[in-house]
Amino acid sequence: MEAMTASYNPKSLAACEFISHEEIIDSLDWADRNKNNASLIDEVLRKASEKKGISHREAMLLLDSSLAEQNEAIFRMAKRIKDEFYGTRIVLFAPLYLSNHCVNGCTYCPYHMQNKRIPRKKLTQEEIAREVAALQDMGHKRLAIEAGEHPVHNPISYILESMETIYSVKHKNGSIRRANVNIAATTVSEYKMLKDAGIGTYLLFQETYHKESYKRLHPSGPKSNYEWHTEAMDRAMDGGIDDVGIGVLFGLERYRYDFCALLMHAEHLEAAKGVGPHTISVPRLRAADGIDPDSFDNGISDDIFAKIVACIRIAVPYTGIIVSTRESQASRQRVLQLGVSQISGGSRTSVGGYELPDPDNDTAQFEVNDLRTLDEVVNWLIKLGHIPSFCTACYRAGRTGDRFMALCKSGQIQNCCHPNALMTLEEYLIDYARPETREIGEKLIQSERGSIPNEKVRLKVGDWLDEIKEGRRDFRI
Ligand code: SAM
Repeated sequence: MEAMTASYNPKSLAACEFISHEEIIDSLDWADRNKNNASLIDEVLRKASEKKGISHREAMLLLDSSLAEQNEAIFRMAKRIKDEFYGTRIVLFAPLYLSNHCVNGCTYCPYHMQNKRIPRKKLTQEEIAREVAALQDMGHKRLAIEAGEHPVHNPISYILESMETIYSVKHKNGSIRRANVNIAATTVSEYKMLKDAGIGTYLLFQETYHKESYKRLHPSGPKSNYEWHTEAMDRAMDGGIDDVGIGVLFGLERYRYDFCALLMHAEHLEAAKGVGPHTISVPRLRAADGIDPDSFDNGISDDIFAKIVACIRIAVPYTGIIVSTRESQASRQRVLQLGVSQISGGSRTSVGGYELPDPDNDTAQFEVNDLRTLDEVVNWLIKLGHIPSFCTACYRAGRTGDRFMALCKSGQIQNCCHPNALMTLEEYLIDYARPETREIGEKLIQSERGSIPNEKVRLKVGDWLDEIKEGRRDFRI
């Protein structure tokens, strides 16, 4: 395989070295020159079949491959890796928008400071408790907290207090067991505070790794500092957060550049911190107030989107891949086969949108493409042969960071995530599902419970499933 450029240093803590522009350009050029080279692509696929991941260059070659036979093999390989690492489970979550106050000038986001048309809103703790109760009534156990960046309206103390509120709400049989947080890049000491408050994954999308484009797309506010943003995950890990989730907003920059850099970011975290990203998100730019995705020139087709997901799955087998309701039902259906492990369901992207749906979407961050209820999504997943999971066990059992990666890489998740998925699905079916969803869900659990390899675990899970039917909750392996 082609050597890397000298400027690329995945262990470096400097953004310009672990996201080396020169290395990206060189990798893109090399992949382009070899995209019809069947034997080279086959060699990469052979390496990928060991399921230990492949480099950004190799992944770039697969993404660029223009050979039909090789492309089919790429999709088959992605599906195989997904099945072996994650089985048929799909974890469900919902975003919770706390505040749309923001001091940044991101040109693609309607929350940008210059936008005077949208009403600005920040939830009080009482409103958050009501939002959380509404989310619990849908059946959610896992949230992604979202907020704009604003030192006065949304300081870290507000986020911490909101997390405490979220974890404290126990409505009927409901509870939020994992709160992931998507807020702007911050300091090590603030990351420590988030860790102490029980953060699940710290999510931060790079938007684009292309420095010049980044500067143009973020003309003002703290987020305009490329290095501060790009090096945020290192600070988050220094602050003790083991699970970090990276992503780019596809549509802003040319996808090949960002795909390559995204994988270099994953390589960097593994090389410098010993743990790669817990998740990779693949959001695509959507229409929003004053935002027309077509004006950004770099939109990607559904075919390219599917190939990106497949190639990420092959390159970073252990990472979770997240797809949100920015994608349509059809697009989500396609990528579920190719490596996605988490999806959102029943999402509202407006501030306070769960308790009081916002008919005009006035405070929405973007238009969602999949408007189905959580129950419709659960029903659909079951019919497609997936196991909808509300599991949050790893994080609560301390299996984060390298411990989660080790579990995932060892293939032991079948004795762990699989039973936890079945038990949390059972809770969902009893507490929240429509009769038809409950019926097909119960059948699924019956047929799946026998496939837990470890006999002791299998028997224990059988007992616990019975206890869930009798009203007990929150069992986990
Ligand atoms: N304030 C945080 C920050 O500065 O990184 C992030 C919170 S924001 C609510 C979450 C993500 O939504 C952003 O990182 C961006 O990728 C995405 N987003 C913004 N505008 C969007 C749009 N028009 N369509 C799709 N996604 C968008």
